[in-house]
Amino acid sequence: MTGGNRGIGRAIAEAFVANGDKVAVTTRSGGAPDGALDVRCDVTDPAQVEAAFATIEEAHGPVEVLVANAGITADTLILRMSEEDWSSVIDTNLTGSFRLAKRAAKGMLRLRRGRIVFISSVVGLLGSAGQANYAASKAGLVGMARSLARELGSRSITANVVAPGFIETDMTGVLTDEQKAAIKAQVPLGRYGSAAEIADTVLWLTGPGAAYVTGAVIPVDGGLGMGH
Ligand code: NDP
Repeated sequence: MTGGNRGIGRAIAEAFVANGDKVAVTTRSGGAPDGALDVRCDVTDPAQVEAAFATIEEAHGPVEVLVANAGITADTLILRMSEEDWSSVIDTNLTGSFRLAKRAAKGMLRLRRGRIVFISSVVGLLGSAGQANYAASKAGLVGMARSLARELGSRSITANVVAPGFIETDMTGVLTDEQKAAIKAQVPLGRYGSAAEIADTVLWLTGPGAAYVTGAVIPVDGGLGMGH
């Protein structure tokens, strides 16, 4: 899985380790949780993605589960959004996930089984002022997952999307108290989510109980995105 050193990714990695799985965590900066193989990989670099898979396959064998979680924001209103704001977010969140899924699918097709999970966001389908780049990248994951579900389904490979709502991590730590309160006021459950709640959903999607779930978008957002 990618981005497993902090935030939502760390909770997912810890849940897999606690489940007794062989886990590899890729990040740019290191710091995988105990019990996980710590691999450096910037998902914007195809050569690093290839090298990371080679390292992981050598240590752990074929990759049966991919969780594409690494993501960034570069929020600003559309008239101020630079080419770099746009392309860096698309390259990391969407194209990075494409690179990972393509490489993972190669091994999964041979295995004739596999689980691919993309970590999207409630704003992918709801939209969010100041996040045109981010929302586009996260909506793109839905189209990609559903296409892969159709392409790879005959080999027992599933492709699904988890769409978290507001989770307190470094990413949302940059928001002002006012912004946080405004978001919370729109959440029917009246609270932020925890990274562990996203991890629980990912564990279910990659476990035996979700073998017949593919092409799905699973919201874990306290009801924020209802109506998708
Ligand atoms: P954080 O900012 O806490 O962590 C981001 C992670 O992504 C880090 O592990 C970081 O690794 C990794 N990462 C970023 N860029 C790259 C890159 N180019 N190559 C490899 N790794 C990279 O984010 P969150 O935990 O909050 O978010 C995780 C995912 O969940 C993201 O995809 C985010 O969009 C999504 N999400 C988050 C929500 C929230 O409320 N927090 C809501 C909805 C979706 P490093 O430390 O090495 O930089």
